[in-house]
Amino acid sequence: MAGNASASDRPKVGVLALQGDFREHLMVLGKLGADAMPVRRESELAAIDGLVIPGGESSVMDKLSRIFGLAGPLQARIASGMPVYGTCAGLIMLADTVLDAINGQQSLGGFDIAVRRNAFGNQLNSFETDLDISELGEPAVHAVFIRAPVVESVGPRAHAFATLADGRVVAVEQGNLLGTSFHPEMTDDYRFHARFLDTVRANAS
Ligand code: GLN
Repeated sequence: MAGNASASDRPKVGVLALQGDFREHLMVLGKLGADAMPVRRESELAAIDGLVIPGGESSVMDKLSRIFGLAGPLQARIASGMPVYGTCAGLIMLADTVLDAINGQQSLGGFDIAVRRNAFGNQLNSFETDLDISELGEPAVHAVFIRAPVVESVGPRAHAFATLADGRVVAVEQGNLLGTSFHPEMTDDYRFHARFLDTVRANAS
């Protein structure tokens, strides 16, 4: 699908705004020089060069995306190669396979991964840790996990981008798709958003 190439220096980036912490992503993307806008309907989807799917509750986001008639158009844009960055529930929305989904829960798919929802259980609902991520260099990324999923298997089209000390995968990349189990938008380290915007600019030009 044709991008809005003339604005590749200030790319038009949508944030799926059905539910969840979309406002934080809009703020980060704006700070990084993107023309960031909430997306709730199909017409808004047509105007963007890239999309962030925020954290929140994936089962609710899934239901709303289908009620609003956005799921099909979103899947079409993902299949056409639009850059998408999903955090936490957003990563679940992008996963081809969702483990521990609620009854009837679907995902948009596209990412060749299986994720397990709420993988850290009740005792460790939320935690913070530092991740060494070679592609991002120094310093380590301070990662905030909130009822987070974990990437349980990474298919041949995707690759692990970050792991916990015990080896569990918490960030993945696959072509124009990027996903994190954690929430960079809740810290002041915007390297993941910057990496996503680099992909958006490269794709739009
Ligand atoms: N547990 C939530 C879900 O399944 C994700 C939590 C989050 O996005 N912080 O969608």
